[in-house]
Amino acid sequence: MGIKNTVLKSADVIIVGAGLSGCLMAWFLKQRQPELFIQIFEQSNDLPLKRTWSFHQSDVSDNYLNIKSLISKEWQEHTVHFASYYRNLTGRYASIRPEDLSNKIKNEFAGQIFFNTEIVSVDEAAITTADGSVHKANCIIDARGPETLTTKCGYQKFLGLHLQTKTAHGLQNPIIMDATVKQTDGYRFMYVLPWSETELLIEDTYYSESSLMDNEFLRKEILNYVSSKGWQVQKILDEETGVLPIPFFQSQSNEKKLAVIGARGGFFHPVTGYSLPEAVKIADRISQLKNPSTAAARTVLNRYRNEQYWQKRYFYLLNRLLFQAAQPNERFKIFERFYSLPESLIANFYRASLSNAEKIRILSGKPPVPVTEALKCLINSGV
Ligand SMILES: Cc1cc2nc3c(=O)[nH]c(=O)nc-3n(C[C@H](O)[C@H](O)[C@H](O)COP(=O)(O)OP(=O)(O)OC[C@H]3O[C@@H](n4cnc5c(N)ncnc54)[C@H](O)[C@@H]3O)c2cc1C
Repeated sequence: MGIKNTVLKSADVIIVGAGLSGCLMAWFLKQRQPELFIQIFEQSNDLPLKRTWSFHQSDVSDNYLNIKSLISKEWQEHTVHFASYYRNLTGRYASIRPEDLSNKIKNEFAGQIFFNTEIVSVDEAAITTADGSVHKANCIIDARGPETLTTKCGYQKFLGLHLQTKTAHGLQNPIIMDATVKQTDGYRFMYVLPWSETELLIEDTYYSESSLMDNEFLRKEILNYVSSKGWQVQKILDEETGVLPIPFFQSQSNEKKLAVIGARGGFFHPVTGYSLPEAVKIADRISQLKNPSTAAARTVLNRYRNEQYWQKRYFYLLNRLLFQAAQPNERFKIFERFYSLPESLIANFYRASLSNAEKIRILSGKPPVPVTEALKCLINSGV
């Protein structure tokens, strides 16, 4: 449904883009200030989901209760597997399935989401649709998703199959990284989420220089992995793919003049490409503004960006070490060593709140990458 010929009253808040960050922003605003009149504009004909969003509970600890009802499934623990060791991590892990988020948002915002509506310009106080209609609001939030990166980057790319197994697979908790698989095309691991006794999401994942994927090959590799575990496939239920840029430097275009959230605002974890934890933190802060305006939202975003500056800068350095100092077939050593560190440090890494001592700890000890190459990365960063 488009909005042509529809008379609209002016909104308090307009959100452009009903992806992850736009939906979370709308959700938080509605929970905190139900009196606000919110409108959401989305170019697709439905909520554009087909992707599963996962996170550690500690990534969103302050806001866990605010998003609990959006969570599709939680697990008590998770594991990582490397050729030299296996480790159980006690932190809770959670996932939001696209259909669950979509249903909740459509329910909460019935009549306030305008599908098939491409926005061609976003300003401080108004947006313009492709058919020329102008819509005004006190606060305009741009959540239009990632722009093309302007800095050098590697990629985290993956293909995932949602599978039903013939009999119970017996897996209780997610395997966040099973790096015992053959190391090709960079650092490679299988990621396994057990949805139910007979349902799994398995992603063949790569930290690679190249964004190219051979989907047919990856599907076969996942099925080979399933056989190697002794599981049998009853049915392939669905598929999802992703190519997330892993940048080596801060993108200059992140200094936004508007209130830009989500991947477009640079609000994602540089090493994982995941953006849910930052989208939650930002939605939490902006939804606390009384009578939000674009200028006030932008101030919140700029403050958040400044707070995160040194954490992010450190993560860009890690990305350069991973992609530029380590040989592709040796890249697994970085993760193998990282996951041997204390659990609290690992949690702080994912929630982007490492202390200086933890930052040093990650880089200290016998280096898993050649020292001269590592030094070049350090010098390049100015850290
Ligand atoms: C397969 C896959 C799995 C992932 N898994 C995770 C995960 O487990 N955890 C995690 O944290 N992150 C994950 N990510 C990354 C995460 O999904 C993205 O970082 C996140 O979607 C970015 O949110 P966003 O709102 O900025 O952009 P998007 O979610 O891409 O949403 C942007 C929206 O804006 C709309 N839009 C764009 N332009 C216009 C326009 N001109 N007019 C109107 N609408 C417009 C788009 O149609 C889209 O709906 C995954 C990504 C993929 C692809």
